[in-house]
Amino acid sequence: MSIADNISRIRTHIPANVKLVCVSKFHPNDDIMCAYNAGERIFGESRVQELLQKQASLPADIQWHFIGHLQTNKVKQIVPFVDLIHGVDSPRLLQAINNAAKNEGKTVNCLLQIHIAQEDTKFGFSQSELIELLESEQVAEFTNVRLCGIMGMATFTDNQAQVASEFQKIKSIFDTLKNRYFANDDSFCEISMGMSDDFQLAIEHGSTMVRVGSSIFGARV
Ligand SMILES: *Cc1c(COP(=O)(O)O)cnc(C)c1O
Repeated sequence: MSIADNISRIRTHIPANVKLVCVSKFHPNDDIMCAYNAGERIFGESRVQELLQKQASLPADIQWHFIGHLQTNKVKQIVPFVDLIHGVDSPRLLQAINNAAKNEGKTVNCLLQIHIAQEDTKFGFSQSELIELLESEQVAEFTNVRLCGIMGMATFTDNQAQVASEFQKIKSIFDTLKNRYFANDDSFCEISMGMSDDFQLAIEHGSTMVRVGSSIFGARV
């Protein structure tokens, strides 16, 4: 199967109101161009250095999403062009993004990463940490970040019932935050959840943005 075939197959399972982020990490520019020529414009990368190289040499109308764990000392390198940062996992990182955005005279779109999976290795806020952040005085200082929603990952498991219940949990946290803090803020509308193995389940549970890598580009080497 070619990349273009993979995309058209996947696209049949994605409703028009759900965004597809083509996760191109570890895949070469030629592969990205295949997806680009098939009509895709949103690409996700998880390493700053790799993203910088790709962004410099690929079409300017690509919307680059940063989906990995972002170190505060690398924020300023991507802020000038990044379209959305999915993995904001600490107040400190949000602060760093805000500072860099201010220096650039822009506002940066961010998703708050929620920690839901059973594994300890996954980064993110718990629900109570998010509430603490959103109720803090500090949040008013973040004039140059636009909070666009939340991002989450399910536990890496074959247990579909568990994955489904975690997606449900992410959706319910989103609804709680939306109602409490963003009822009048149309920007806060995205739930980024679902990857190659579980994006259809994620969409059934309210995902608005799926991050699909290996089903499009093949295994990463
Ligand atoms: C790599 C990655 C993906 C894509 O995973 P696939 O299983 O290849 O679709 C999605 N989200 C994040 C955060 C990733 O790091």
